Amino acid sequence: MNELEKLFASGKTVVVQTAPSVRVSLGEEFGLKPGTDVTGRTVAALHMLGFKYVFDTDFGAEATVLEESQELLERLEKQERLPLLTSCCPGWTRYCLKMFPGLEGNLSEAKSPQQMLGAIAKTYFAKKIRKSAGDIAVVSIMPCFAKKLEAKEREREIAGATQDVDRVITTHELAQLLKSKGIDLRRLPDEAFDNPLGVAGGAGALFGVTGGIAEAVLRTAYYTVTEGTLPRFESNMRPSLGQIKELSMMLGEREVHLAIVQGYRDASVICKRILEERRNGVRSLDFVEVLGCIGGCVGGPGQPDTVEGSVLSRAAALHEHDRKLPFRDAHNNPAVKETYAALFGKPGSGKAKKLLHRSERDYEEIMGTLT
Ligand code: SF4
Repeated sequence: MNELEKLFASGKTVVVQTAPSVRVSLGEEFGLKPGTDVTGRTVAALHMLGFKYVFDTDFGAEATVLEESQELLERLEKQERLPLLTSCCPGWTRYCLKMFPGLEGNLSEAKSPQQMLGAIAKTYFAKKIRKSAGDIAVVSIMPCFAKKLEAKEREREIAGATQDVDRVITTHELAQLLKSKGIDLRRLPDEAFDNPLGVAGGAGALFGVTGGIAEAVLRTAYYTVTEGTLPRFESNMRPSLGQIKELSMMLGEREVHLAIVQGYRDASVICKRILEERRNGVRSLDFVEVLGCIGGCVGGPGQPDTVEGSVLSRAAALHEHDRKLPFRDAHNNPAVKETYAALFGKPGSGKAKKLLHRSERDYEEIMGTLT
């Protein structure tokens, strides 16, 4: 019996979530063109595997946006722990903690989208179906192995029934599983994600691509400050593969300086710069998005083997996904709003911090496990 079969046999309600990038890469394992959007067919395949509830990690990403944008605005207001460094890529956070001690306080305390969705599934959703946290098991379909480590960190941290995520399967491993069951993705009809944690818009989808997290967070931060729509980010800010992109923009009355970084070589460059500026008593950046893989999660090591151009095709498909959805901003997600109304109140509230944030103690514990 494999680990998934054991979970199904455990008597728990087993729910599954799929990362933003999986929907534009899984099709390649079945001979479809790179960047083919197979969202609906992936949901159908997961239902066929026996998951009663198929949720969208994009929902978790949009909760991450609410928390991280609030965190950014608070740190800007207090002028402390800047630049804010994104923390949704566990490959990057572990690298940062190991290689650049002194920056742990700059990392965002917001949990990653998979962890947030797991935490909300075991509380808000569990209550909705009259279960307790221990009755729910969460499986994630993710683009890399670092996400498996991330789930285990939490497993050590919150022992027993309340760990956020129970098992992580990569895109490639899901394809192998489907093939072993004779499920051909190409022949499946589209099915919709299940409610309520399957409702998501464009902001969540952008988490799969370099520059997307900064864009999603700034859409909401900009709205919070101005009640308006973030102008012209798309043409100004979207980076090409393998380059650091920097931009200054107005957030209300304040000028904010951003950098978008992909891959460990450039992560090292930006970390050294931040530490050197700190030693010299200056600061040129307020907010830095870092993803460990070139292109972001669309280029993750658990994705199908890349052929030429596939990372760019997947990235373009996610931007198209963002454009065609009925809402594109995390703060307009009706299901996320309902969850906050029922559970947390406002982003950054005491309850939100308890369930959706890591503490610096978490980082210290992770650092203790690094060799
Ligand atoms: S950028 Fe790469 S290592 Fe980081 S979460 Fe995405 S796939 Fe994983």
